[in-house]
Amino acid sequence: MNYDLQALMERWDGLGVVHRYDQPTRTWVFICMHDNTLGPCTGGTRMKVYSKPGEGLLDGMRLAEGMTNKWAAIDVAAGGGKAVLAVERPLEGEGRRGLLLRYGRLIQSLGGGFHTGEDLGISTEDMKVVAEEADYVHGFHPEDGSKIDPSPFTARAVFAGIRSAVARALEGETLSGKKVLIQGVGSVGANLGMFLKEAGAQLLVSDIDEVRCQRVADQLEATLVPENEVYSTPCDVYAPCAVGATLNPETVPRLQCRIVAGSANNQLAEPGDAARLMERGILYVPDYIINAGGALAFSLLDQGIGDRELLLEKMDAIGDSVTQILQEAASQGESPVVAAQHRVDRALAKSRD
Ligand code: NAD
Repeated sequence: MNYDLQALMERWDGLGVVHRYDQPTRTWVFICMHDNTLGPCTGGTRMKVYSKPGEGLLDGMRLAEGMTNKWAAIDVAAGGGKAVLAVERPLEGEGRRGLLLRYGRLIQSLGGGFHTGEDLGISTEDMKVVAEEADYVHGFHPEDGSKIDPSPFTARAVFAGIRSAVARALEGETLSGKKVLIQGVGSVGANLGMFLKEAGAQLLVSDIDEVRCQRVADQLEATLVPENEVYSTPCDVYAPCAVGATLNPETVPRLQCRIVAGSANNQLAEPGDAARLMERGILYVPDYIINAGGALAFSLLDQGIGDRELLLEKMDAIGDSVTQILQEAASQGESPVVAAQHRVDRALAKSRD
């Protein structure tokens, strides 16, 4: 892979990349703006140590493209963007605060061209620091200004998406008694488990953090699954809620589930994995649709909707989108990944007309 910054920018079909080298912390800052057809470029800010700055830039570009699709698929008037703070080593204290303030000023200088919220490696506290300098930071409560954790909303939308997929693909149509295996019981996975438990699902959980996994398993009365047995364990739904690329040529043939639906980003290691899943008769719910709950909640907060229960209820809209995509896929005999892309293309084309 060529990680040369200039080559990557020349090849990209996005609107553009605002980049800056932050001397005091030796950090590359990339604000990747992919498409503003539906609204200003909007996406999370990620802080991560990459082996090369270009690797961070490529990550930002791909994630920004994903955001264009996500917003279009869930009917939110926003465009695709993502920012990457490619740090040389993990930053803490004054160094971290200084970088975040300078990053905030950079966002502000774009005059609303880029809007952001938290992503990997960035905490709610970090976003509050960015918001000291920038007006375009999202996820604050409309009444008291407190910063909101998106994970429960993401989890609730994943739950709604799983419910839709089960209604489509499994006998009995409800979650009661269905076996759901959650891989990764962090912020989203643990919340998802609560919703599923309430709906009567039988839970299996797996996490590389054994202490956390045991704690969540006790709370959910779930069965523990060792990390290396996740793909071969029989279940109705496999919910990847940990890391990307868990669906790949090595794991797909081993899967013993009927549905894959979870919050992790970029679940397919390569595009051909969608067809591999379809050939095996496994229904795959595209990740960028089912994991859009946090993004949708932030957009609703901006519209002044701050009531938590109402926000959680509104996550059912993601379940409706999943139902429509699965229906279209079935009627056309195509993968849900293809049906989801058609939905995105239609939304963008309509807005450009
Ligand atoms: P998190 O860091 O709170 O939890 C991730 C959990 O996965 C941790 O408990 C970790 O120990 C575990 N884990 C990591 N590697 C694993 C592996 N190989 N096998 C099993 N467990 C493993 O993260 P989160 O906020 O819960 O997000 C989970 C996933 O959902 C991520 O891929 C994230 O990008 C995606 N996502 C999250 C949100 C959100 O609102 N938090 C929104 C959209 C997408």
